[in-house]
Formats: sequence, C-alpha cells, structure tokens
Amino acid sequence: MAAPERERMLVSRIEEGTVIDHIPDWRADTVSRVLRLDKLARMQADVSVVILQNVTSEHLGRKDIIKIDSWHVDERDADILCLVFPEITVNYIDEGKVSKYSPKVPDTIEGRVRCPELNCISNTEREPVVSRFVTLKEERLLQCQYCDTLLGFEKVPDHVRT
Ligand SMILES: [Zn+2]
Repeated sequence: MAAPERERMLVSRIEEGTVIDHIPDWRADTVSRVLRLDKLARMQADVSVVILQNVTSEHLGRKDIIKIDSWHVDERDADILCLVFPEITVNYIDEGKVSKYSPKVPDTIEGRVRCPELNCISNTEREPVVSRFVTLKEERLLQCQYCDTLLGFEKVPDHVRT
C-alpha cells in the first residue's frame, strides 16, 4: 500500500462515534471482548469497527487504537476497561467534535461482570440477582457483594458478561 493511502487509513476521521486510544500493543482483542464489539456489530447494522494494531505512539512505543463509527461506548464499560488498561483514553465524537472522557476505577460494578464463584447467588439459573462488586482500589481487586469472592482487576475481561 502506498504511504499516503496508509496514512489516510490511520488518521481518517469519524464524524460520530468513539475512539479508544492508548491501548497497549496487541491488546485490542481484550478491549473488544470487554466492550462486546462483535455483538454490537451483529446487532447494529450501521456500526463499523476499525482496529489498528501496532501503531507508533510517542508515549507507549507502540499501541493499539479502536475506532467505532456511529456508536458511543458506555462510560461504565470504559471504566471497566481502565481496571485492566489504566492508560487508555476515550474520545467521543459528535458531529466531528471531540470530547475526551477519562475512565476511572468505579466504586462499584453492577451487572457487567460475572462472579467467579459458580455457587454465588448471582450465578443461579432460576432467580439470578444482578452481580455486584465493590472495588478494592489499592489491592486492585473486585469483591463480590454476595459471597466475598475476590477477582483481580487483570482477570476481569475473562468474566465480563457476553
Ligand atoms: Zn459472588
């Protein structure tokens, strides 16, 4: 591919949507899993997802970027991402105007993460209650409010509800 064309592909702007930047190199797949982008693309016909990997970055050396056209990622999902990737940045684009969102570690997480304890009341088939975790920020752990099971921040992507 010619250099100008390559450049245009990397920098092409979107008018409406979300750009997730400063993802550690080759970790875009994890971000995609946490945000359930495959599901999104199936359910929303007009949404396009562009994943850029191994892009040159001033700060990180190399990084990944995800652009989601015509979709605004939920801030709560961005906050869950920052448990694993504290350096990510989220840009929302409305009619070409960019507004930055700095994800922050939430105090509690409801419904989005599954408790790793199979016998937890939040995992029961019949009358499931919504999962609820409290974040222990210094220890980098989530604690289930029902059964006290602990889950390390870095393991959260494996337990996101799909
Ligand atoms: Zn539990």
